[in-house]
Amino acid sequence: MITSTTGPRPADFNDVRATNLAVVLRFVRENAPCSRADIAASTGLNKATVSSLVADLIERRLVRETGLTENRVGRPATMLVLDGSPYAAAGIEVNVDGLTVVAVDLSGRQVLTLRKSFPGVGASASQAVAAVAALARRTVNRMVREERRVLGLVVAVPGLVGVEGRVRFAPNLNWHDVDLAHDLAAALRDPEFPIQVDNDANLGALAEHRFGPYGGAGNLVYLTGEVGVGAGVIVDGRLLRGGQGFSGELGHVQVDPAGPRCGCGRLGCLEAVAGIGAVFGRFSDGGPTVSPAVVAPEIDEVVRLARAGDRATLAVLADIGGSLGKGVAILANLLNPQAVVLGGHYVPLAPWLIPAAEAEARVRTIAPDAGGCRIVASTLGYGAAALGGAARVLDSIESGRLPARP
Ligand SMILES: [Zn+2]
Repeated sequence: MITSTTGPRPADFNDVRATNLAVVLRFVRENAPCSRADIAASTGLNKATVSSLVADLIERRLVRETGLTENRVGRPATMLVLDGSPYAAAGIEVNVDGLTVVAVDLSGRQVLTLRKSFPGVGASASQAVAAVAALARRTVNRMVREERRVLGLVVAVPGLVGVEGRVRFAPNLNWHDVDLAHDLAAALRDPEFPIQVDNDANLGALAEHRFGPYGGAGNLVYLTGEVGVGAGVIVDGRLLRGGQGFSGELGHVQVDPAGPRCGCGRLGCLEAVAGIGAVFGRFSDGGPTVSPAVVAPEIDEVVRLARAGDRATLAVLADIGGSLGKGVAILANLLNPQAVVLGGHYVPLAPWLIPAAEAEARVRTIAPDAGGCRIVASTLGYGAAALGGAARVLDSIESGRLPARP
C-alpha cells in the first residue's frame, strides 16, 4: 500500500509495480533461499507476475539466483537470495565521545565500520556538522572505490528530533534547533542520496528489529545506555514516533521524587538514577562526574570489581538495576513488550544489572511475570544506532523506494 501525504489517490501502474517489487524483496529477505513458486504461493501474486518482478529485481541486482534445489514436489527449482552488493546504506551515530559509521550492503552485510573520537560535548553544532560531513565523505569515497552506490545516509543523534528531521534539542551535546540534514547536504554539496536525521534510540530499536536476536518480536524496546537513557519503541512491528516525533523519553520519567537532579533540571528522572552518569556518580560519592571521554575505561574498572565480587560495587549495580527495573515496569505496563534490550554502556554491566531489574519489573507490573517481558543485553555492539541508520535506509527500500536500474 503506497500512502501519500496529500491524501488518498488512485494508485497508478508504477505505484502498484513498485509496491509488488517491494513485497517480493521483503519476502526473499525473510525466506531466502526461496523459489519463485514459494513467492507466488505466499504472496498471492500469480506466477507470471512473480517471474516478471523477480527478473526486474535481478536486473537491479537486488536479488540473485543460486543453484538448483529439489523442491517439495520433486521438480528442480532455482532458488533466490538477496544480492544488493552494488549498493550501500549508511548510518552515522553522533555521541558525546565519538562518531561511529556503519555501512551495509542491501543484503544487510556490514561492509564498513569505523569509530572516530570526537569531543561531542565541547564542540559547537557547526564543528559537529563539519566532523560528520568529513566522515560521511570518507564513507562515500570508500563505497565508490568499492563500486557501490550509496542509497541513503541516516544520522543518529541523542536528542529530540522532529518528524521533519530537525534536531530540536540534544541536551548532552548542547545543541538547540540544528537543521542537521540540511547542513550536511550543503556540506556534501547536495549528494544524490537522501540524508535523514533520527533519534539514536529509535535507530537502535530499528537495528534490533532487523538484525538482533529478538528481531522476530513485533513488540520490543531498545534502551540507549549512554549519558542519556532513551527508549526506541517498536509496537506491532512498527517504530512508534508520536505526534511530533518526541516519543520514548523514558529517561525523563520521574522514578524517585527524592532523587538527584537530572541534566534536564527536574528531580529523580530515570536518567539521573539509572543512566551511566548515575553509575559513576555513585562510585565517586557525589564528586565530579566522569568525563564522557573516559567512560569506557571506567566501565572496565567497574566490571573488574564486580567480577572480583567487590561488595560495594555489587550493591551499587544492584541498586541501579533496581531503578532500571522501575523504568522497565512502566514500559511493561504500558506497552507489554516481548523484550527490553539494553544497549550502549549497559551491555558490559548487564550481568549485574539485569537480575535486579527483572525482579523490580516483576513486582511493579500488573501482568504476571512482567507480561513475559525479558530484559536482555544488546548483541549489536556500540554502533547499534549507526547500524539502525543503515537499517532505516533498507526499510525505505523495502517499502518501495527501489534504486533505479543500473
Ligand atoms: Zn530529566
